[in-house]
Amino acid sequence: MTSEQVGVKINAWEVAQHQFDLAANLLGLEPGIRQVLRECRREFTCHFPVKMDDGSVKVITGHRVQHNVVRGPAKGGIRYHPDVTLDEVKALAMWMTWKCAVVGIPYGGGKGGVVVDPKKMSRRELEAMTRRYTTEIMVLIGPESDIPAPDVNTNPQTMAWILDTYSMHVGYTVPAVVTGKPVSLGGSEGRNEATARGCVFTIVEAAKDLGIDLSRAKVVVQGFGNAGSIASQLMTLEGSKVVAVSDSTGGIVNEAGLDPDRVVVWKQEHGTVQGFPGAKDITNAEVLEVPCDVLIPAALENQITAANVDRIDTKIVAEAANGPTTPEADRRLHERGIFMIPDILANAGGVTVSYFEWVQDLNRDHWSEQIVNAKLREIMVKSFAETLAMAKKRSVDMRTAAYLLAVDRVANATALRGLYP
Ligand code: NAD
Repeated sequence: MTSEQVGVKINAWEVAQHQFDLAANLLGLEPGIRQVLRECRREFTCHFPVKMDDGSVKVITGHRVQHNVVRGPAKGGIRYHPDVTLDEVKALAMWMTWKCAVVGIPYGGGKGGVVVDPKKMSRRELEAMTRRYTTEIMVLIGPESDIPAPDVNTNPQTMAWILDTYSMHVGYTVPAVVTGKPVSLGGSEGRNEATARGCVFTIVEAAKDLGIDLSRAKVVVQGFGNAGSIASQLMTLEGSKVVAVSDSTGGIVNEAGLDPDRVVVWKQEHGTVQGFPGAKDITNAEVLEVPCDVLIPAALENQITAANVDRIDTKIVAEAANGPTTPEADRRLHERGIFMIPDILANAGGVTVSYFEWVQDLNRDHWSEQIVNAKLREIMVKSFAETLAMAKKRSVDMRTAAYLLAVDRVANATALRGLYP
């Protein structure tokens, strides 16, 4: 029996290193470069005080990690969640390195996380915490060194507070220090939708290759936040039927199809997707097992595991979330012929438009949404085609193929730069 089956908590960092090792073995990576890429370059942890509304002081733990900065500044989101650990942030930072390399944008990988439940905090407390955390990570972040973005439980408002805090410290406004900020502060058109839109571009390409008609497809989405809710809306525009969705409180199913626009409004009003008129409430676990053609995990890590993988009934898994599938589940999905669009490809639309935003900020420019979406499509379609070609050439699954492309690019850049001093 494997550790996954006996219920041992799966460590995302071990998963990330395992995925890297598979690619490094296949590439026959030079041992020195292998050691460098297998670890994170910088791991920063801070414990900082925040004044709460009741006058008390709470000490909160935060992390910022840079996995690799060989191809450019570190890039990666900031997550607020009670389960954040340094190992999780390290895994997410490493995945960012590969993601940026797979889509060919000039960034390395970084990630931040704060161990906190933002749902239990007031807006003032959240702002104070964000500003103090920003001050703590000022030693790392900057438009040329490390550029944060939104992730789970952070949003454009969070980015606006980070931008303001950083700018107050340096004495002038620096829009390029964060991406995913409001458009009125130098944010990009299309950034909010970019992760989901990029994911849907890859689903369209996969469906073409597999001969699946998306206008007749059933879709299930786990996690009805930024990535998941917008992916649901965009899949409906492809003519697909979204039959089940979930959030942290539970799921809903309706075989006749849900209207994602109405579910968004319902969730805003009720704080949950559950109870949606015409749909049946089901558990989070059941949502993943609803038969469909396209399954989009868009919540957190380690959702498709050895424990439930054999009940997953789909043709395509498109990982809008980072790390939703464990290695053993991955292997079993591949054996069953289920087509995987791996996270480092499927959700790379977010960082791609973040890159567009940064380029616009540095150039004091502003592109139309049409230009942003067209450029995003071009990159996602090309990256999907390159990954598929690699998978076919090396007879490997799509995740391994994406890793082969990405790790090779970062390893090459590392070798070219040489070892300092
Ligand atoms: P979000 O906070 O907007 O949404 C997360 C959603 O997941 C929420 O609706 C939450 O209720 C739900 N959720 C949490 N636990 C769940 C569970 N056990 N079952 C079902 N639903 C659950 O976050 P987001 O930005 O949409 O990020 C979601 C995933 O996408 C994360 O893995 C993130 O790293 C990844 N991602 C996001 C972006 C981006 O640009 N936002 C980019 C790349 C990858």
